[in-house]
Amino acid sequence: MRFYLGTHMPSWLTKPELENVPLFISHRRLKQYRTLRPARTAWALDSGGFTELSMFGEWRTRPSDYIAAIRRYRDEIGSLEWASPQDWMCEPYILQKTGRDVVWHQYATINNLLELRFEAPELPIIPVLQGWTRDDYLRHVDYYAKCGIDLDREPLVGLGSVCRRQHTAEAADITAALQPLNIHAFGAKGDAIAKYGRLMTSCDSMAWSYAGRNRPDPTCARKTCSNCLHYALDWRQKAQQEKDPDNAQ
Ligand SMILES: [Zn+2]
Repeated sequence: MRFYLGTHMPSWLTKPELENVPLFISHRRLKQYRTLRPARTAWALDSGGFTELSMFGEWRTRPSDYIAAIRRYRDEIGSLEWASPQDWMCEPYILQKTGRDVVWHQYATINNLLELRFEAPELPIIPVLQGWTRDDYLRHVDYYAKCGIDLDREPLVGLGSVCRRQHTAEAADITAALQPLNIHAFGAKGDAIAKYGRLMTSCDSMAWSYAGRNRPDPTCARKTCSNCLHYALDWRQKAQQEKDPDNAQ
């Protein structure tokens, strides 16, 4: 399983300590920088949809602007492995913001991918599954097929709106139902990696940052470790080594 460390700090892309640690960074952060430096590590791009839909109840970033930004990141930063589309999450909180239902969000997510791939076929933009129940996700796979996209043939398929939920068992059940797709789980919590990391091709997580807020390292001079590289690397290593308590050998 490939684990992308989520970070708010684009400067981490150039840190020698992170040369073999793939990063996950949001377009919302990167777009603020006029100067970008070449990365020393591989990374993937988050479109920042959760924040944008939370704030506006719709996508305000035009697909053409998003494409221009991805091309710029590819050229100026380099080492970009893949980018998220401008997908539509299906958490009840987000549905309330947009005033649309799950099926609308699912088709809007496919529409956006088709548009991005049509306009920029050279960019590595991945399809993303959205939904709320297990059946929603399975139906979304069918919708993709109807629109001409066979997810079985995709090297990576993002799985959205799963990891933020409280019940890890439900998230594990959904991920299992989508096998044998090559799943990337967005925003995985620490216990998700232990519980069902074996069902993922990859995942990303910023959970270390929340954990670091309340549990600073006693050897660290800062009040909180929510932005500390040492804390992120420790957390990443522990999360990858943790065993599923229900399945311990
Ligand atoms: Zn620290």
